[in-house]
Amino acid sequence: MADEKKSLNFIEQIIEDDLATGKHTEILTRFPPEPNGYLHIGHAKSIVLNFGLGLSYNGKTNLRFDDTNPVKEDVEYVDSIMEDVRWLGYTWAGEPHYASDYFEQLYAWAEMLITKGLAYVEEQTSEEIAAQKGTPTRPGIESPYRNRSVSENLDLFRRMRAGEFRDGEKTLRAKIDMASPNMLLRDPLLYRIKHANHHRTGDKWCIYPMYDFTHGQSDYIEGITHSICTLEFENHRPLYDWCLDQLVEPDRVRPRQIEFARLNLNYTVMSKRKLLQLVQEGVVSGWDDPRMPTISGLRRRGYTPESLRNFAQRVGIAKRDNVIDVSLLEFSVREHLNQIAQRVMVVIDPVKVVITNYPEGKTEELDAVNNPEDASAGTHKVPFSREIYIEREDFREVADKKFYRLQPGGEVRLRYAYFIKCEHVVKDSAGNITELHCTYDPASKGGNSPDGRKVKGTLHWVSAQHAYDIEVRQYDRLFSDPEPDGHDDRDFKDFLNHDSLEILTNCKAEPFLKDAVIADRFQFERKGYFCLDKDSTDVKKIFNRTVSLKDSWAKMEQKEV
Ligand code: ATP
Ligand code: MG
Repeated sequence: MADEKKSLNFIEQIIEDDLATGKHTEILTRFPPEPNGYLHIGHAKSIVLNFGLGLSYNGKTNLRFDDTNPVKEDVEYVDSIMEDVRWLGYTWAGEPHYASDYFEQLYAWAEMLITKGLAYVEEQTSEEIAAQKGTPTRPGIESPYRNRSVSENLDLFRRMRAGEFRDGEKTLRAKIDMASPNMLLRDPLLYRIKHANHHRTGDKWCIYPMYDFTHGQSDYIEGITHSICTLEFENHRPLYDWCLDQLVEPDRVRPRQIEFARLNLNYTVMSKRKLLQLVQEGVVSGWDDPRMPTISGLRRRGYTPESLRNFAQRVGIAKRDNVIDVSLLEFSVREHLNQIAQRVMVVIDPVKVVITNYPEGKTEELDAVNNPEDASAGTHKVPFSREIYIEREDFREVADKKFYRLQPGGEVRLRYAYFIKCEHVVKDSAGNITELHCTYDPASKGGNSPDGRKVKGTLHWVSAQHAYDIEVRQYDRLFSDPEPDGHDDRDFKDFLNHDSLEILTNCKAEPFLKDAVIADRFQFERKGYFCLDKDSTDVKKIFNRTVSLKDSWAKMEQKEV
């Protein structure tokens, strides 16, 4: 049963009623992606919803590939979808299902409709059909082929299957009502001819069923109890039910379609067609580019399955469309990584500090806390020596009162190490700072004040001699507009943020990072959460910034106002 303390959403309410009235004794939901692209965060919401319901009501969830359009579909997508669902932490019931497994049954049902006088073979072009559709307030015109005899329809439909006609030459249409206020009931298309190789059925078929003639039937074949989809399918429901009306048997489960609001995120495009465009045109490096809203992109970026599941739950289930702020997604991963990420020190934009009164050749091993949120995580050793790196931005030659970091004559704490004071700034002939000469207070070991004197700034640092060179990739939003595909007169790509990727190749990490493996997650102290990228080699490790420590975007916008 669902968590009692939480109030039920409207879908849980329906399910609980169905269980209470005995309409169903077992719940079976399904996640039905079309394998024509990689899954995105919107699909994650649907996955969490469908699999979550299966789990909370002790039921099951099927994975079904809705593979009725051979031209756009591919096994690469099938594989990636399975990987993503598993990674999110879900297990589908039995083997994956494919709508294409039902082609023979769907064909038989189509012949049955013909036999009942409920479907006919159309010969007009799609333009002609469209011109006869009418408008919601004006009835459509009946096709001249609408009243063919059953035997003629059967003969033509069989010849369609046999490959006697070219693409588009004929279609099969349901005979419903050309005056229906629901346009989808005005003799919708059921089958079309496509001489195309299918990734599973090969060349067996040259006619393919339409979505509306496939989905409800597939649900029915599998015994799905609750068929949950997004709101744009609301007006398909009468057709979903019409198709089922023609074939349901009294002793079998009849699925029910329920619609919920899709997930929309600002600063994000979420249509597979548009994401494919970004991949094909090389705007991003692939479907799993860490800036993509795909599950594979978010995974590579360092998102955890837990954070995506929490996000989906936090967003909740609504009946009306809305737009979620992408910072909620960032919040969800930050919250989880704060609990689990190993803390390390990395200097992303280094400037060298020489501690002039520290003995040459000496190295100390200092203790650094692995995770302040988790005492059981323990500590690790960080080497300290006479020359270290700090962030260039942590020093200012001319500083205002609010700047608590290093400045000439000023004192700061080096985390886990000592207090240092800046005595001298060394520059090259062009005036760039090359080194900072500092002195340290040996009595401040561990970063503790020896005499109660206070320093306000605490800096992270890396011992120069022990530094491990890494590359860091920092990402920003892929789009600079909150609604990149919401402008009728502009292409969504006009709103690309051209500074969405920053590559820093000279970053200095503490030696601890040498042993990092893919999927390890770190907090680079004061810098954000990072994970090792799959492009890393033995020679060079690359770290992706998952998310900054704070919402720097919000701060930036405030500053600009
Ligand atoms: P897109 O419109 O992004 O191309 P789609 O709806 O064509 O996606 P499908 O493969 O048909 O993609 O989707 C599989 C399931 O995921 C469907 O049940 C669909 O309703 C759901 N889904 C797709 N996008 C979202 C979204 N943004 N929010 C919630 N569920 C979604
Ligand atoms: Mg779809």
